[in-house]
Amino acid sequence: MKEDKKINHHLTRIFAKVFVRNKLVRTFMAMLLAVSLMFGFADKAVPVDSAGKMSLKIKKTQYTYNKNSKGKKRAAQTIRVRNLSKRYKVKWKSGNKKVAAVTPKKGKAKAKLTVYMRKTGRSKITAIIYNKKSGKVVKKLNRIIRVTVHKKPTAKSKQIIPKVKAGEFSIAAVIKELCRKENGGRFAGTRGNRLAAGYIMAHFEKAGLKPLKKKGYEWSYDEHHPDVGNAVGNVVGYMKGRDSTKAIVVTAHFDTVLNTPGAFDNASGVAALLDVVYKLKKRGKTPETDIVFCAFNEEEQFYVGSAAFVNEFKGLYKKSININIDCVGHKNNGNYLLGYEKNDISADLIRAFQSIFNSRSIPYRNFPVKDIRSDHRSFQDEGIPNICFTQEGGIMHSAQDVISSVDDKLISKISDAMIEFIINNRL
Ligand SMILES: [Zn+2]
Repeated sequence: MKEDKKINHHLTRIFAKVFVRNKLVRTFMAMLLAVSLMFGFADKAVPVDSAGKMSLKIKKTQYTYNKNSKGKKRAAQTIRVRNLSKRYKVKWKSGNKKVAAVTPKKGKAKAKLTVYMRKTGRSKITAIIYNKKSGKVVKKLNRIIRVTVHKKPTAKSKQIIPKVKAGEFSIAAVIKELCRKENGGRFAGTRGNRLAAGYIMAHFEKAGLKPLKKKGYEWSYDEHHPDVGNAVGNVVGYMKGRDSTKAIVVTAHFDTVLNTPGAFDNASGVAALLDVVYKLKKRGKTPETDIVFCAFNEEEQFYVGSAAFVNEFKGLYKKSININIDCVGHKNNGNYLLGYEKNDISADLIRAFQSIFNSRSIPYRNFPVKDIRSDHRSFQDEGIPNICFTQEGGIMHSAQDVISSVDDKLISKISDAMIEFIINNRL
C-alpha cells in the first residue's frame, strides 16, 4: 500500500510540472478529478484490500443488565467489526456520552464495543479502522444503534398473578398461549411472566390438581435475583397417590430470558408437563405415589425459583425423585442429553429412562452431568435423584426460538415416556 502511494505521488508531480501553468488545463483537470471521484475511479487507482469488506455487526438479542463501576444497572448492546483483517486496528467513537466500555481484543481480528445505556435510546457509533503499522485511517463505519432498557418491577409492590382462562388443552395451544407476542416474553418480574403463571394455574385447576401444603398453587419466596425484583413464585400442584410418603416431582420452568418468545426454552417443557397431567387424569387411576407438578420461575436466574422450592419441599416426603423438562421436541429431533454417571445418585433413574427411550426410539446420548444446567440441579444439591430432559441442537435464548421450531408430536413422545415411567414406578 505504501508503494502505491509513492507512485501516485510521483505521477502527480510530473503532471503538475507540465500542466498546472495552463489555466484551461487546470480547470479541465479539476473537473476530471471531480468526475472520477464521483464514479469511484480514484478508488480503483489505489488497490482496495479487505478493508472494503468490513462492516459492523450488531448482536441482535443482547439486552442484558450489567453493572457499571458504581453498581448501577444498565442495558448493554454489543457490536463488532465483521471481516476485520489482522492488519488493522479499531478505535471507537460514539456520539453518546453513555458509552462506558471499549474492548478491542488484543491480537485478534475482532473488535467489540459494548454500549451501556441507562434508558432506551439511540446512539451513533463510529468504528475508525486504521493500519496497525502506518496508523493511517482506511475506513470509517457508522451505525445508529438502539438499546432497549427494560423497566424492572419495584421490589415493594406485590406481584399479582392475573386470572387467565385455561381453554381446551393441547400441546400446541399451550405453546401458542405462552408465546403470545403481545405478552412480551416471560422474563421473571414482567407482566408476561405473571400471565404465564396465571395460565398454568388455570390448567392445574381445570385438571383437578390439588395445591400442595398451601392455600393456592403459588409457592412464593422472598429471595429473588436482583435483576427481577419481586417476581411471582413457582406454580405447584399435586395428584395424590396410594403411598403419600413418596413422590415423583415433575418440573419445567416457565420464565424466559429477555427478548425471546421462548417456544423451545421452555414453553415446550411446560406443555409436556401439562400433557402428563391431562394424560394421567384421563387414565383415571390413582398413581402409586404422589405426583407433584412444579412450573418454576427464575430458572434463567441461576435456578433461584427451584432452589427456593426444594428448600421448603425437602422435608415433606421420605423419598422423592425429580424429572425436569427443559427444551424438548425440537423439529430437528436432536439427541436428549442424559447425564449418566455410574455412581451418581441418579444412575438407576437414568438407566430406567435409557431403556424407555430405547424402546420408543427417542434419540439420546450420555453427557457429563455437570454440563447439564437447569432446575434439576437444585434437587441434586439436596441429594434427591434427578434427571433432566434437554435436547441438543435447538436454538435457545434468541429471537429465533419461535413456535415453528418445535413439534408437538415430538413433545408428546417425551410426555408418553414419562407416563410409562410413572405408571411402572417402583420408587
Ligand atoms: Zn430453559
